[in-house]
Amino acid sequence: MEAPDTTSSPDAAAADGTVVVSGIQPSGRLHLGNYFGAIRQHIDLHKEHDAFYFIVNYHAMTTVQDADQLRQHTFDVALDYLALGFDPEEAALFVQSDVPEVTELTWIFFNLIPTSYLEKGVAYKEKINAGLTPNAGLFNYPVLQAADILAYGGTHVPVGADQKQNLEIARELARRFNHRYCPDDEPLFPVPEPHILDHVAVVPGTDGRKMSKSYDNTIGIFDEGDALKESVMRIVTDSTPLEEPKDPENCNVFALIKLFADEETQQEIAEKYREGGYGYGHAKQELLGLIEDRFEEARARRKELKKRPDYVRDVLREGAETARERVMPIMERMRERTGIVRTR
Ligand code: ADP
Repeated sequence: MEAPDTTSSPDAAAADGTVVVSGIQPSGRLHLGNYFGAIRQHIDLHKEHDAFYFIVNYHAMTTVQDADQLRQHTFDVALDYLALGFDPEEAALFVQSDVPEVTELTWIFFNLIPTSYLEKGVAYKEKINAGLTPNAGLFNYPVLQAADILAYGGTHVPVGADQKQNLEIARELARRFNHRYCPDDEPLFPVPEPHILDHVAVVPGTDGRKMSKSYDNTIGIFDEGDALKESVMRIVTDSTPLEEPKDPENCNVFALIKLFADEETQQEIAEKYREGGYGYGHAKQELLGLIEDRFEEARARRKELKKRPDYVRDVLREGAETARERVMPIMERMRERTGIVRTR
């Protein structure tokens, strides 16, 4: 793998005008739910359109407040995406804080949105309901998110069907800015659309609930050896004896198998469930093999990349340069329209 070359950086203005933007939280080890629910499709999308993918370290600060941890998570996400097939020749991957203009835009947006909008924020309300005191970062999180999207002139944001409301503040801010500051002019910010990700059933965790780092029920994409085996063996099943027939559609192990196996293999395994004489332990072994096969290459690539931190840094730096080139003229126009004076 060669270091990226700026001359082949993604062209900021794609022929079809679609600009895909997406923030990735550097808040811990990525799991199978993240992969099937989001990452796999992010990887496909960045090859089809102009795309800006940023690792949102400012956002992560609302919860991760340990410097070493934040640094580590930030680089880990870059490694994960590169290992899983992100190609820096196709699109920009960078760290949010390398484009500080987004925080400038956040301030401009603060003045265009009533606090009552932010009081409806899901993460903010959850904290309040749990009796916790949310910090101002969490409260203002959606405004920073809007700045991230609009600073790059994002037109499409990949989201799951159930997360469309996350985009609403960005859409509202684009409309408000354009209405207030560009009434007779071409609008500065496109109103971004959700790019609804292919429907993927919620990936179950080892306890049968939604796989989520908050439930400690995850299977990591890059887990291997004993750690992976342990997670798979932890998957909760019922107590039907080995020799009896079982219903695959009612089994957490089979739900995961379905994500990995082709149609024919799924049929074969389902048949074994129904015939009896096939235990959950067998199904778990099958799943283990499928996980290992699927991620074998990505795991090897990740290990290689880990030995080349300078390369990863170069990718992120080049990505940030591409992103700043894209942001600068938009910010210039924003300052001119809002009357923010810059004397140097
Ligand atoms: P977590 O619940 O572990 O904190 P995040 O909220 O950070 O995960 O999710 C990041 C992305 O991964 C989101 O787009 C989300 O929809 C997707 N995702 C997370 N868990 C699952 C799951 N169990 N099934 C499907 N998609 C998921």
